[in-house]
Amino acid sequence: MTKITDPVVGFNVPAAVGMALEEVSTPALIVDLDAFESNVAYMRQFIEAQNIRLRAHAKTHKSADIALYQMAHGGACGVCCQKVSEAEAIVAGGVQDVLVSNQVVDPRKIDRLALLAGQARVIVCVDDLGNIDDLSAAASKAGTTLECLVEIDCGAGRCGVQWGEPVVALATKIAASDGLKFAGLQAYQGAAQHMQDFGERKAKIDTAITQVADTIEMLKKEGLECDIVGGAGSGSYYFEGSSGIYNEMQCGSYVFMDADYQRVKDENGNFISEFQNSLFIWTSIMSKTKEEVAICDAGLKAQSVDSGLPVIFGRTDVEYIKCSDEHGVISDPSNVLKLNDKLKLIPGHCDPTCNVYDWYVGVRNGKVECLWPVTARGLAL
Ligand code: PLP
Ligand code: MN
Repeated sequence: MTKITDPVVGFNVPAAVGMALEEVSTPALIVDLDAFESNVAYMRQFIEAQNIRLRAHAKTHKSADIALYQMAHGGACGVCCQKVSEAEAIVAGGVQDVLVSNQVVDPRKIDRLALLAGQARVIVCVDDLGNIDDLSAAASKAGTTLECLVEIDCGAGRCGVQWGEPVVALATKIAASDGLKFAGLQAYQGAAQHMQDFGERKAKIDTAITQVADTIEMLKKEGLECDIVGGAGSGSYYFEGSSGIYNEMQCGSYVFMDADYQRVKDENGNFISEFQNSLFIWTSIMSKTKEEVAICDAGLKAQSVDSGLPVIFGRTDVEYIKCSDEHGVISDPSNVLKLNDKLKLIPGHCDPTCNVYDWYVGVRNGKVECLWPVTARGLAL
């Protein structure tokens, strides 16, 4: 008899290894393994050529399998996570070196972070003097060491302190605190990543580089060395990566890409081409009752549309134009779509789209090669 925990395709798993892509249950999150591996290899070659490190951002995929692949084949020294629960899941999956690229201020979460540092190298961002006391007390109680990066707000208007003196004050206090180690800086310019114009992105990152460089000099005068100077995402990594100032890239989306990153342009005005779309929502047509319109089974609950609607991969004859909870409306001016036809959607925004799936279905040459759980999906804490 089938137990509820046994994998049943179309019930609690979208696919089985060896199955043809056509048979994968929809909507499903599929990864084109050739494109994924090519993206990972490209970034590896870039960081090796620049002689810098990659600490790939695992918030994109929330998968221990993908994180371990990036470390084994993509030159990653470790990963970033965006929160404690994500870090716990990724460490439980076997990753030994994690930066929580955020502030952790809740007392229970600080305790969890300090305990996690007993199982892996754990680094965390800091932008508050009082938080340093709390992190120090928790690490001392747990008998562990938390490495701390001072976060600079280099223009994103999010977390972090202003460059210069406020950074020196935080770093000095970290260096003098039990259970903590001053490990360097995080200066991630998030607002620049998706700017479509190359010159505008470059100007934002040039400002950040100057701020970081000046701060490093000020810290040096106080005898404080930065082991890590981290930042950069998939839209700007070549600026930080060739700056001679940053030494750890935090790119995440590069493994998958998405429709919004497809609109970002290089210095010649062409769309970014070094990374390929490797992540797709596999969807079926479920209704075709009207002229010039077809309905698919990937709606709002199958994706995030905060950065725009998905783009249908490899098709110019049909277009995804609207969605509601469980329906996607496809413009089909020539009425080419039929019931059960399949489409590959490039998600508008990869990271939050992955967070609504339990599994990645890895596909090569039209066949399912692997299934990877979305290890840290949805963890709210
Ligand atoms: N670093 C930090 C702190 C981030 O918040 C993000 C994403 O928002 C990234 C790195 C990765 O950026 P991307 O997914 O654009 O490569
Ligand atoms: Mn994103």
